[in-house]
Amino acid sequence: MLIPARMSEAEEQRWVTVMLEKLAAQESRRRLGDAELAERAERLSAQYFEGRARPATVRWVTNQNTRWGSCTPAEGSIRLSHRLRDMPEYVVDYVLLHELAHLLVPGHGPRFWQLLEAYPRTERARGYLEGVVAAGRLPHQPESSAE
Ligand SMILES: [Zn+2]
Repeated sequence: MLIPARMSEAEEQRWVTVMLEKLAAQESRRRLGDAELAERAERLSAQYFEGRARPATVRWVTNQNTRWGSCTPAEGSIRLSHRLRDMPEYVVDYVLLHELAHLLVPGHGPRFWQLLEAYPRTERARGYLEGVVAAGRLPHQPESSAE
């Protein structure tokens, strides 16, 4: 952080506090809202699944602590854990694609993983999430209620 010269210690402390608050505000603006999440799902579906996965709703949920994401194909609803919000975009995209793929293929058979192979960062994202799990922050992998 660049601190202007000739500040007293008290001024400096106050300035740092203000800057940290500004950064925190920027950080929360950077996070995707539900509307952006739905747009992103549409874009990912178009890019990787020829637009075949068409969720009716896509939203963040805070009551999902053992799963990264879930999907109810009968309703076309996809829910992502709010815990993903601070993770890199490619990880959020992977979980979103994972749930979108469940709209097309239930379960985790070869056909399912074949769909996800189209996304170049699948392995990397899975590794990232496994690392988070290993660090003890969450107990499970993404699952689908469709199984
Ligand atoms: Zn799954």
